[in-house]
Amino acid sequence: MTDNASLVARDLAALWHPCTQMKDHEWLPLVPVKRGEGVWLEDFDGNRYIDAVSSWWVNLFGHANPRINAALRDQMDKLEHVILAGFSHEPAVALAEKLIEVTPPKLERCFYADNGSSAVEVAVKMSFHYWRNVGRGEKKRFITLANSYHGETLGALAVGNVALYKETYGPLLMETITAPSPDCFEREDGESWEAFSRRQFEPMRDLLQRHHEEVSAVIVEPLVQCAGGMRMYHPVYLKLLREACDQFDVHLIADEIAVGFGRTGTLFACEQADISPDFMCLSKGLTAGYLPLSAVMTTDRVYQAFYDDYENLTAFLHSHSYTGNPLACRVALETLQIFEDDDVIARNRVLANHAARAFAPLADHPHIREVRQHGMILAAEMMQDPATRKPFPWKERRGLTVYRHGLENDVLLRPLGHVVYFMPPYVINEEQIDHVAQIALEGVDLATKQE
Ligand SMILES: *Cc1c(COP(=O)(O)O)cnc(C)c1O
Repeated sequence: MTDNASLVARDLAALWHPCTQMKDHEWLPLVPVKRGEGVWLEDFDGNRYIDAVSSWWVNLFGHANPRINAALRDQMDKLEHVILAGFSHEPAVALAEKLIEVTPPKLERCFYADNGSSAVEVAVKMSFHYWRNVGRGEKKRFITLANSYHGETLGALAVGNVALYKETYGPLLMETITAPSPDCFEREDGESWEAFSRRQFEPMRDLLQRHHEEVSAVIVEPLVQCAGGMRMYHPVYLKLLREACDQFDVHLIADEIAVGFGRTGTLFACEQADISPDFMCLSKGLTAGYLPLSAVMTTDRVYQAFYDDYENLTAFLHSHSYTGNPLACRVALETLQIFEDDDVIARNRVLANHAARAFAPLADHPHIREVRQHGMILAAEMMQDPATRKPFPWKERRGLTVYRHGLENDVLLRPLGHVVYFMPPYVINEEQIDHVAQIALEGVDLATKQE
């Protein structure tokens, strides 16, 4: 019979896990999951865990969701996959129509890929190729924000700004221009989020002024830099950025891969700034955590710059084998239908308010400076001295203490370094939120007392 120990032994003999120093598993238990239902994950020994990180920020409506399962089964019996070049199918068309309807105005074309990093690659290539097609091939540089993350393929890594990745893979990456982050964790005492985000926009405006002739696009994660430690900023930054990009004739790429589909309190984070980007990258919640799929939404203006006689060789050059997979598209359609039928955004507002109250005690902890939140993303950062923002040395890995305390108490919390965060499936209830908050507080206490 399979139990945790036997499956872990087989796993460690055969698998190489993502984003993992495999040697850690000599002492850090790997958790083999047998089944999932709603917010719960269950292992082979009968332990249960509330999935408070939505299985790496992808799950929206719980594991084994009956509605999504039914849609998937139905699609499976009709068409599992077909080439999307020269051929089409109903789920791809219906999903494109739906995405055009629900994303901000002017995004009127949908290009599919099959994961988030690929969507970023598509947006970067499409932006550059647009300028090339309109006779401005010199616009080939990208402006990115400090502390940003856009995925892990080489192009996506290049426009991201995670120090460890940049140091390791730097020699393989194109050079980008980096602007300071609007991240409000760095604001002065007494300074508002809005004032700080406005102040941080000044260097971005200078860079655009100086480099716009050679810049193709600015790429940002709207409102929350998730992988960069759930660092957050004010929507005014996006508004100012949109205006400046228009002024200087530079594209704006909004990477909503993590923040899209209700995470920040609106269906898309860009809505809070009332802006439309030139490219919007979507993945993760697009399929509610079921299947790999991504989409890049763009404008008719961009589309028309590629639309020409074949001989002119202006067509966009990009494809993946599983582009627009019918099963994934059908699941995405059902996901968007659930948003409509169940008034998810309104319900999330209630849950987010509850989470704010439940996690408030963390803000008083002597090693926490503040609890920050945008809708269904909430985070707190353990620091040696919060008053001076002095971090704990990264080698101490205190987040692991929180992680292990969570696992012992029915909760999957997986801090990013020393940042404890809560980003749950939207089917979580108030009692479960209270439990996660309690365990997070206890975990922080244990982690910050440890030598
Ligand atoms: C996760 C993520 C990506 C990459 O998506 P993958 O599907 O993991 O390749 C890109 N951008 C942001 C903001 C993300 O959070």
